[in-house]
Amino acid sequence: MKIVFATNNKNKIKEVQALMPEGIHLLSLEEIGCHEDIPETSPTIEGNAIQKAEHVKENYGYNCFADDTGLEVEALNGAPGVYSARYAGEEKSSEANMNKLLQELKGKENRSARFKTVIALNLHGKLHTFEGNCSGNIIFERKGLQGFGYDPVFQPEGKSVTFAEMNLREKSEISHRARAIRKLIAFLDHLNS
Ligand code: IMP
Repeated sequence: MKIVFATNNKNKIKEVQALMPEGIHLLSLEEIGCHEDIPETSPTIEGNAIQKAEHVKENYGYNCFADDTGLEVEALNGAPGVYSARYAGEEKSSEANMNKLLQELKGKENRSARFKTVIALNLHGKLHTFEGNCSGNIIFERKGLQGFGYDPVFQPEGKSVTFAEMNLREKSEISHRARAIRKLIAFLDHLNS
């Protein structure tokens, strides 16, 4: 069965394809000729994931899953949340986003945060969602060079290093995205058996 993973990030596709049950072949947006910017106008992470998966199903006819992730910071009432990519502006700069986050948290004692990923799967017109979370703290200054986004300032609960100090395998053991993907895979595995 062919399923579209609504992304053009080749690394993400490769990583997730390697985990898929036998018989499931992932296609990127590019491979189905979807070159437009898919609207992500929902005020929630879940809503955006659903919007992306439905856009592909409705316009291209393929079964599809899409992911959306946000960083929710307790002392900021859940911000940047669904706006994580463009927290400091439309240029989507990770450096500027981290600067803004550290600035907003200045003087605040509670630095608890969590990453939340929602994967929405539109399979034969039926919607299924899978959520993965990873709780931790925003540290005071960047540590580590690996990963992307807010990784250098996010220290997962129970760890003494940030996501940016972990390799991909270590991050994947506990990350929000990996947890959501494992739920999706268990669901697809079950369909296959
Ligand atoms: P997306 O929905 O995967 O595009 O994620 C939205 C934004 O959340 C990204 O632009 C990053 O700023 C942030 N983000 C998502 N996943 C991670 C992660 O694993 N580590 C750090 N930042 C992340």
